[in-house]
Amino acid sequence: MDKFDLVIIGAGPGGTAAAFKAKQLGMSVCIIEKADVGGTCLNRGCIPTKTLLHGANLVAEVKDGSRYGLSGGENIGFDFGALTAWKNKVVETLRTGQTAGLKKAGVTLIQGTALIESVNSVNVTGCSTCEGGTCKIEAKNILVTAGTIPEHVPVEGHDLPHVYTSDAFLEGEGLFPKKLAIIGGGVIAIEFAFIYSALGSQVTLLVRRTPFADMDREIGQNTTLLLKKKGVMVQTLTKPVKFATEGDGVRVWTQTGEETGQKSLVVDAVLMAAGRKSTAKEIFSSGALPALDEKGYIKTNENFETSVKGIYAAGDIVSGATQLAHAASATAEAAVEIIAGGHAPHKFVIPACVYTTPEIAQVGLSEDAAKKQNIPVICGKGVFGANGKAFLENQERGFIKLVFSADTQVLLGAQFYCNRATDTIAWAAQCVTSALTAAQIKEAVLPHPSYCETIHTALNDAVLRGGLKIG
Ligand SMILES: Cc1cc2nc3c(=O)[nH]c(=O)nc-3n(C[C@H](O)[C@H](O)[C@H](O)COP(=O)(O)OP(=O)(O)OC[C@H]3O[C@@H](n4cnc5c(N)ncnc54)[C@H](O)[C@@H]3O)c2cc1C
Repeated sequence: MDKFDLVIIGAGPGGTAAAFKAKQLGMSVCIIEKADVGGTCLNRGCIPTKTLLHGANLVAEVKDGSRYGLSGGENIGFDFGALTAWKNKVVETLRTGQTAGLKKAGVTLIQGTALIESVNSVNVTGCSTCEGGTCKIEAKNILVTAGTIPEHVPVEGHDLPHVYTSDAFLEGEGLFPKKLAIIGGGVIAIEFAFIYSALGSQVTLLVRRTPFADMDREIGQNTTLLLKKKGVMVQTLTKPVKFATEGDGVRVWTQTGEETGQKSLVVDAVLMAAGRKSTAKEIFSSGALPALDEKGYIKTNENFETSVKGIYAAGDIVSGATQLAHAASATAEAAVEIIAGGHAPHKFVIPACVYTTPEIAQVGLSEDAAKKQNIPVICGKGVFGANGKAFLENQERGFIKLVFSADTQVLLGAQFYCNRATDTIAWAAQCVTSALTAAQIKEAVLPHPSYCETIHTALNDAVLRGGLKIG
């Protein structure tokens, strides 16, 4: 039986970041992965969606390119197979690179399904490297970074043909339905609505509440307007109640608000994108199962340790986790530091991004959240109407909001709704992490023309309209 300082279950962004960190700290490390290195993020999540989105945005820009001298935009040819082939090449190339990186760092990679039998022992089945396909691995500590899987909508017909989860759209050849119903109002559902409407599908979005109901109100309102403008039929306060096969497609029965009657629409495919679920119960033998929350996610303490001493968990599978790739990596690395005898950071400042057009990114506190927590804040807003870069790129709507502490003038949070928001939010994440004040932020000269110029417009608004003091 091989013995390691650390055995990691799952080679997604959490597991791989943890493995590299553990090697840096001098541990012997084994990582067990039942599917593909890169996890959900690389194989069925962040990277394939953003590749499709890049292609979809290009198509939309060319179609609408007459102001830049492009002609025939509406008649351009588009080959979904070619876009899918590029997406698969991107995924495979990155996966090969990550796998080679792990091996080069001296991490033992085992392809197989892990079952944790005790604090010190993991059983692996379907193992591609050991004799007989089954082996046992001995561990000083175990870190579970086994992520989540898509959840089906709990209504009749959810398992019919043509009713899919995001995996079917992103793996292999993918899907390109002419008429698509998307269930959900969160990041995954809305990114798919942008992708498929830009590629030419007729998209209906069925949202139980409103798009991005948990985000800054203006972000949800603007997104709904833009989706409608792009031809997406947005049905809010609406839930599916039944799916039934109809011809080569699906009839989706829906109910809206308090209405008692039901409506229906027929589509070629349904995408269920209303949630993910934990598989924690499948990873532990019954005697080793740590405490789970009511949804089956693993409970951990502030040191990422589960209720079973020596077994740690990080990333999406943890109760209350921010389910994002960079959050998984950051928390998994912190868990390894603690396993090695160090300390975890006091707080994680984790930006959240949505890759729509324009992009959405936020970090730290929003004005609404500050109000709920009784934190006195002064906010500033800069709109993009007068921003040269946004105007020349024909960005339709957009704003930057900054949330400052009224007491200390420190930046507590920021919301960006503009092109390149997912890159420029890194600036705000650094300011919030370093607790920079408005005066310190104002010292930096910002480039022109650029989207970031609107940061100073927002800051000036906080001073002029909100009364923020800057020294
Ligand atoms: C469509 C979609 C788009 C997304 N886009 C973004 C985005 O743009 N940005 C972002 O930050 N996040 C995005 N996410 C979320 C992101 O993918 C996850 O937050 C991230 O992958 C979580 O990392 P993880 O390491 O916790 O788990 P995962 O990436 O889920 O990895 C877990 C791994 O564990 C393996 N595993 C499970 N059980 C076992 C077992 N018993 N034995 C061995 N291996 C096992 C799985 O096969 C998997 O490879 C997206 C998700 C989806 C679905």
